[in-house]
Amino acid sequence: MMMPFNIQSREVRKRLEVREKPYFARVTSSIHLGYRKGKSITRWLVRWRTKSGYRTRVLEDAVPDDRLRANGSSVLSYQQAVIRAMNMDTNDAIWNPKHCSFCNKSQFEVKVLITGPNNFICDECTALCSRIVAEHEQRSTERQRDA
Ligand SMILES: [Zn+2]
Repeated sequence: MMMPFNIQSREVRKRLEVREKPYFARVTSSIHLGYRKGKSITRWLVRWRTKSGYRTRVLEDAVPDDRLRANGSSVLSYQQAVIRAMNMDTNDAIWNPKHCSFCNKSQFEVKVLITGPNNFICDECTALCSRIVAEHEQRSTERQRDA
């Protein structure tokens, strides 16, 4: 069992070791906020769970309030980073994944999701459609032959 880190506290973050692997704190059951402590650069990052595993995104345009006072834009406290993570571009796949218009699986549950003008289709549904078309063609060939 991994120890949860209290990355909310600036004092605790100050004492954390520099390491490649981020320190994570749980925000919700599927979202974690991470703190990556590098030698010169530290960053907040957000990690969220999908069917195929975790995905991570670094909050690129802001730094944690380790040395500078949090200002809600370029310097973020833990709470501000959580808010930023939760309000990330609402079109972003994390918060609004695209779904197959046929089976309704999300883009994270399928290998490929093809985008049409008004809808989407996944690799599984495409395969199913090809089988249906192939069967249809076979039946019409058989009908022509039997006629
Ligand atoms: Zn589908």
